[in-house]
Amino acid sequence: MENSETTEEQKLALVQANREAGLIALAKLREPFPDNEISKLPKPTRAQSQCDVGQKIRCQICGGFHHPKVIHLDYVGHAALTKRLLDVDLAWNWEPLTYDDGGLPTFDSTGGLWIKLTVCGMTRLGYGHAPIKEGPGDRMKEVIGDALRNAAMRFGAALDLWHKGEFVNNGDEPKTSGTKTSLPPYDFEKNKETLKGFIENGRDIETLIASIQSKATLTIEQINEVRTWKKQ
Ligand SMILES: [Zn+2]
Repeated sequence: MENSETTEEQKLALVQANREAGLIALAKLREPFPDNEISKLPKPTRAQSQCDVGQKIRCQICGGFHHPKVIHLDYVGHAALTKRLLDVDLAWNWEPLTYDDGGLPTFDSTGGLWIKLTVCGMTRLGYGHAPIKEGPGDRMKEVIGDALRNAAMRFGAALDLWHKGEFVNNGDEPKTSGTKTSLPPYDFEKNKETLKGFIENGRDIETLIASIQSKATLTIEQINEVRTWKKQ
């Protein structure tokens, strides 16, 4: 009995050490992106999109062709994000949350996709969507890129851009103030006991937190409180 307890302790110590090394590496994901890795996304209003072609100009900011007063939002493109993920963890990986009967990723009824992003052994959920394109394959790739950005944001990647309210997902309306994620606050008090039950039943705490955060806003205090539960 004592032996197996020691082994269990050693295992826990190893898990803890790996976790700490992973957390140090993960902090690199949060470093600000250099200007040359930040792209500009034009976000025309409906009226600007539908304006007369004669009013449109070749834009010096994004290279697109649009109304001269369109605002641009900062975002980190797929290549820059992939480079950062590789810098942090060469073995980073993503996979869809679910597969359909044919073994392909399950896109939801609106064309969106839930993914699991794993970096340094830590997994968080992300959701992506994109407007309908000419070719369905193009849209899927954009949905995946959007889901990766969303999941990486849960690790803190490009969080400053999200904070400023400057970054929005393709297909969203421009938001010029407030937090752009605009997720509702999570009813923490009401769900506390349920969450504790999940954890008692062996649910991984970080995955649970990520799952809540993909749908609602948790405060730092609430996250820290959830993290104390495992010690009980
Ligand atoms: Zn432009």
